[in-house]
Amino acid sequence: MTTFMKNPLLSLMAASLLIFNVACKDNDPKTPQSCDGVEFEYEGDLGPAYWGDLCLDSECNGNSQSPINITGATDDAALTDIPQTYVATATHIVNKGHTIQFNFDGGSSIVVNGETYDLLQFHTHTHSEHEVNGAHAPMEMHFVHKNASTGKLAVIGVLVEEGAENAVLEHIAHDLPETKDATHESADTFSAADFMPADKSYFTYAGSLTTPPCSEIVTWIVMEHPIEASLDQIEHFEHLEHENARPVQALDGRVIKHHKG
Ligand SMILES: [Zn+2]
Repeated sequence: MTTFMKNPLLSLMAASLLIFNVACKDNDPKTPQSCDGVEFEYEGDLGPAYWGDLCLDSECNGNSQSPINITGATDDAALTDIPQTYVATATHIVNKGHTIQFNFDGGSSIVVNGETYDLLQFHTHTHSEHEVNGAHAPMEMHFVHKNASTGKLAVIGVLVEEGAENAVLEHIAHDLPETKDATHESADTFSAADFMPADKSYFTYAGSLTTPPCSEIVTWIVMEHPIEASLDQIEHFEHLEHENARPVQALDGRVIKHHKG
């Protein structure tokens, strides 16, 4: 060996480093870890029932969780159509493993309760996460908007029913990336407005992210009327992201409001 190991102080330091290293490489899933990029699944040991214990700041066992079954909503005459400023974006698709995500260029936003939220991305769930009167739709799109100063989110959920081929999806989604982290860039442009149902009626409630850490920072706006996509189109997403719907969560006294557009 070398002079390095002959120096008792250095040997001690080397030993401490070794112990530190082993401790930090503990892969026991019960060890608290950061929620950032934490692995989760939709079934088995890493499934939704265990998300609350998955990582340090998980709020998945909280009282304001999403998705929910939308039923018994209260009409609220004070609500208005959501002001939407949606501009055309080029197509940026990322296969996130559990979902297919379309990132937006800047410039699109909505106003909710007097606050502006910038549109970041939409992604898809097959089948839908929200239920309406106990029934799923075969697919749901989540348009994620963020308030730049508070960090809070406003997410518009659009339910997708099986029907006519969706022309906008056909225009931008013919080359969905097949493997996790794969991307697809295209100059084809579209606007989030192209996916919004003509009828602006919606349900709204206070909820959470539907994946770990399930942060309770989301104003949900679920459009009452679905849009359509063909069975082929829905199955294409389902084939890539598999079943990725968190079960509905308890309402726990929250109020669901309804706006008639
Ligand atoms: Zn989602």
